[in-house]
Amino acid sequence: MAKEELLQKFNAKFGPEKGKTMEEAVAFATAVHATQKRESGEPYIIHPLAVAEYLLDMGMDAATVIAGVLHDTVEDGKGVTVDEIAKRFSPEVAHLVDGVTKLTRSGQKEYVTKKQEQNENLTKLFLAIADDVRVVIIKLADRLHNMHTLEYCTREKQIRKAKETLEVYTPLAHRFGIGVLRSELEDLSFKYLLPEEYERIKSLVSRQQEERLKLLGTAMERMRELMKEAGIEAELSGRPKHLYSTYRKMQRNNASISEIYDLIAIRVIVNTVNDCYAALGIIHAEWKPLPGRFKDYIAMPKPNLYRSLHTTLMNKNGIPFEVQIRTHEMHETAEYGVAAHWMYKEGRTAQTELDKRTKWLRQVVDEARDNSEDNSEFAENVVKDYLGEYVYVLTPKGEILDLPIGSTPLDFAYRIHTNVGHHTQHARVNGNMVRLDYTLKTNDVVEIITSNTQVGPSRDWLNIVKTQSAKNRIKQWFKKANREENIQRGREMLEDAAKRQAVDIAGLMKPEFYGDILKKLTLPSLDELYSAIGYGGISSGQVLHKLMEMKRKADKLEEMQARLQTAASAPHASHKPAAQSRPKPTNGIIVAGDPGMSVHFSNCCNPLPGDRIVGYITRGRGVSIHRADCRNMPRLSLEPERFVPVEWAASSTEEFSATVFIHVVDKTGSLLEISRLLTTMNVYISDMKAQTTADGVATMLVTFVVSDTDQLNHIMSNLRKLKSVIEVKRVNGR
Ligand code: MN
Repeated sequence: MAKEELLQKFNAKFGPEKGKTMEEAVAFATAVHATQKRESGEPYIIHPLAVAEYLLDMGMDAATVIAGVLHDTVEDGKGVTVDEIAKRFSPEVAHLVDGVTKLTRSGQKEYVTKKQEQNENLTKLFLAIADDVRVVIIKLADRLHNMHTLEYCTREKQIRKAKETLEVYTPLAHRFGIGVLRSELEDLSFKYLLPEEYERIKSLVSRQQEERLKLLGTAMERMRELMKEAGIEAELSGRPKHLYSTYRKMQRNNASISEIYDLIAIRVIVNTVNDCYAALGIIHAEWKPLPGRFKDYIAMPKPNLYRSLHTTLMNKNGIPFEVQIRTHEMHETAEYGVAAHWMYKEGRTAQTELDKRTKWLRQVVDEARDNSEDNSEFAENVVKDYLGEYVYVLTPKGEILDLPIGSTPLDFAYRIHTNVGHHTQHARVNGNMVRLDYTLKTNDVVEIITSNTQVGPSRDWLNIVKTQSAKNRIKQWFKKANREENIQRGREMLEDAAKRQAVDIAGLMKPEFYGDILKKLTLPSLDELYSAIGYGGISSGQVLHKLMEMKRKADKLEEMQARLQTAASAPHASHKPAAQSRPKPTNGIIVAGDPGMSVHFSNCCNPLPGDRIVGYITRGRGVSIHRADCRNMPRLSLEPERFVPVEWAASSTEEFSATVFIHVVDKTGSLLEISRLLTTMNVYISDMKAQTTADGVATMLVTFVVSDTDQLNHIMSNLRKLKSVIEVKRVNGR
């Protein structure tokens, strides 16, 4: 549309004073976008003008239409600010432009499609809408024009935009009852997302429609006569169903095109509510209604305030067709939804009506504020709970609620109120007692029986509820509930998970394994970790998985270290001075029953005074002394009769050798640092080997002389204090 036509149309509706502002806005936007082009190669200004026109046609107020003209002017690099818009035009217009700009700006980042960023963008979108619902209407008009001009974009961008439209924008249009925008956006997305299916359905429908229209022609004619006879003023039209919803219906019901009854519906628009019911009576007297297909959305409006009577009739040839009966006002509401609020200068739609339509969003925003810690999931939860496909259910008072498909009576209870949810005891659906995990169906009348003796939710409920908001509220409850109980419960859950995987949990619950998890989740202690598992904040499976991963890493390290040792010891041992300086501890051991028995210390585990030890009677070499946890134990245990109890003599002046494995940051100086420390501690180093590994760390095997485990532990703990040291372990033999 040319600029002049748009201005004329605007003038005609809002008068010359506002018309002048509009003219200024158009001139301003034209100047700002002067150097920009659309992907089609056309001047950029055609886009904001088209958006403004959609808004004008939808009956929006002057400020919204002007904001539509200006919606892309406040962008990075152009130097136009919201303040400038406020000064030039009005604070109201500036506020709207600001809201849309924030979304557009973040929208550009969406291309990164990082989940978190996407969530942040959606969160902004929902907050902006809750602030002023006109922002979403501008945004939808903007999206509509972009979808109409999508053919000029790359295939990749087409798919991305179409997906986003179906995921967020069409459900929003539906939520706010803007039927006209929803259908158009859906069909455009459908066309780009599934081009082949789109063409197939299009040709199927057009063939069917022709046939149906012929059949319906007769019915419509008869209907007109009947309305006239009854003195009911009625406008009749054949409404073709739009393609995407036909496609969805065929998919969902696995139906062929001939089974879609409302491919074309006859729409009867009358003046009053009474006329609606009168018309229905007349129509039902003439054609046979299909049982179970009558819906009274006048008595019970849909949550988006859609009102109408729906019925499916059988024509004389046995072909079913749908009839929708509504007043003019209901029709406007169905087509324009929230936008209808601005349709008339005086705002005929009451503010309360508008409030009702945005109530869900304000509820969600409040909830998000309460659960500030889960904010990252806010947008995702809104999309899951409010923008997906849903079922309609009724309260016993006839109020309609919509819940995501698969919802249970518990979701219903939590949607009504948190406290109703927490105290739910039983649920009745259509008068019958049902289990709490019953799957709700459209038109179910749901009644929740609460009890004050019910202390709070049960943990099983977390597996039952479908909506994120119910889940969050249950988790919140448990978080606040008894901490001790959570810890106990969490510990058990983790143990159970380990049992199911046949894993030894005791071997996993070591600080070196769970420390990392605590750090990542910023939990102060192991108890907090158990508690988090207990109230359902973290899944026991996830924690177990992580622990097992840590253990696997540690095992690998040990294996590497063992290999290093074998390689290191074999060729060197014979000519090392260490061998001769190593004391020969043959004393200091008391062999039970035979103090005179000759003893020697095994080379595999180098026992030290302080270690738990066992004696093993060898063939011809007396008793060999092993650490009780020596890794050769399983092999030795094959002949248990050869074990003999031994103990350390109370005091011993013997010296022993011990080997430790040290993991250090591979930097010059760390070796020096270690030897310096050992020297200061008067420790005699008998052997030292270092090796650099690929990942920027070095490993060392250091053997030194000590008198017992106390001294060894003291040395090891001092080694651990060194900055370059990552890990120190006693080696089980060399
Ligand atoms: Mn735009």
